[in-house]
Amino acid sequence: MIKRLKKGSNVQLSAHVHSDEIDCPCDNPGCTALFYESELLDAFEEFRLVWSEPITINSGYRCPEHNSLLVSPGAATSTHIIGHALDLKIPICIDFAWACHEANEIFDFVYEYPETRTLHCDIYYRGD
Ligand SMILES: [Zn+2]
Ligand SMILES: [Zn+2]
Repeated sequence: MIKRLKKGSNVQLSAHVHSDEIDCPCDNPGCTALFYESELLDAFEEFRLVWSEPITINSGYRCPEHNSLLVSPGAATSTHIIGHALDLKIPICIDFAWACHEANEIFDFVYEYPETRTLHCDIYYRGD
């Protein structure tokens, strides 16, 4: 289910995800909301449980203005603007290839950035 909060709500959203981690980081005055799909956080928790290691969320929700400024290649980045995507930084203690494999089992779409040990992970809209 898609959820809408005010930006800066400062609340714990799931066992290991705080709203600060997925708020849009921009300073645009029109950027006042946080959207996220609750199933996305469920998937993140499932992914994290494989190792029980902290996994940094580099990017979660992005307002359309902020997203348009980013030069990341690929149309997949647009799912950040509807709260369906997380960019995850895989720590050194976790084998990157294993992380990719597990992510592909849990999320609906994964794009791998091995040079930065980052995974773009998203889930498809399933209807509420
Ligand atoms: Zn923004
Ligand atoms: Zn992404």
